[in-house]
Amino acid sequence: HRIPLVAGNWKMNFDHLEATYFVQKLAWSLRDVRFDYKRCEVALMPSFTSLRSVQVLVEADRLNITYGAQAVSVTAQGAFTGDVSADMLASLGCSYVIVGHSERRKYHPEDDANIVDQVRAVLAADMQPILCVGESFEERRQGIELDFAVGQVHDVTRDLSEAEAARLIVAYEPVWAIGTGMVATPETAQDAAKAIRDDLRKSFNASVADSVRILYGGSVTSKNASQLISEPDVDGFLVGGASLDVDELATIARLA
Ligand code: 13P
Repeated sequence: HRIPLVAGNWKMNFDHLEATYFVQKLAWSLRDVRFDYKRCEVALMPSFTSLRSVQVLVEADRLNITYGAQAVSVTAQGAFTGDVSADMLASLGCSYVIVGHSERRKYHPEDDANIVDQVRAVLAADMQPILCVGESFEERRQGIELDFAVGQVHDVTRDLSEAEAARLIVAYEPVWAIGTGMVATPETAQDAAKAIRDDLRKSFNASVADSVRILYGGSVTSKNASQLISEPDVDGFLVGGASLDVDELATIARLA
């Protein structure tokens, strides 16, 4: 019932020419193997500067690839130099916006209140937020990792209506696994995804819990993807480093 989602988070990589080249190669690679887009959704999260190029290609060639942004302003418009609004992203055809990535929480002043406002802004513009949560090594050492990740989701969902919550996507991305090559075990990813889903069921109902896609992120590669995706509550991936390689991303999508 939940269609797996493989989303490539390019972070601050690729200018619009590289993005254009990548999208063409990815579409070609998946066409070559008659990839079934109804069975697995493939999404790209480029920089703001590449979104227009990706949109033009996707629309011109009617590609089944979806895309989104990596962050958004909480404000609709006005004197906010350097910021990009949710409506601007929606008008570029974005389906998703990553919200609360650990790198944004660390390098930008994104606190819980700001993250809730970003989620609201994304939903109000008819896009879906990909809410990133996950513990650092320290919380894991203390054995409080599940409470921590569930708490981060709960901090957002307690302010949402049932209809809003149903449109969330959650990415469980333990900070210690991001860019380190230390991928979570399938059991660890499943435990966290299940804990998050159980909390959604408790906070809302079974239908919300069943409709929210919960992704795993952190050192996902073509080598570990198939084991992770075989877990019942893992509905796909948010892929960083490996999403910069067409063959890697295409292989992960085929495995998911
Ligand atoms: P890596 O896949 O490079 O570990 O990054 C994960 C991530 O942060 C995706 O958002």
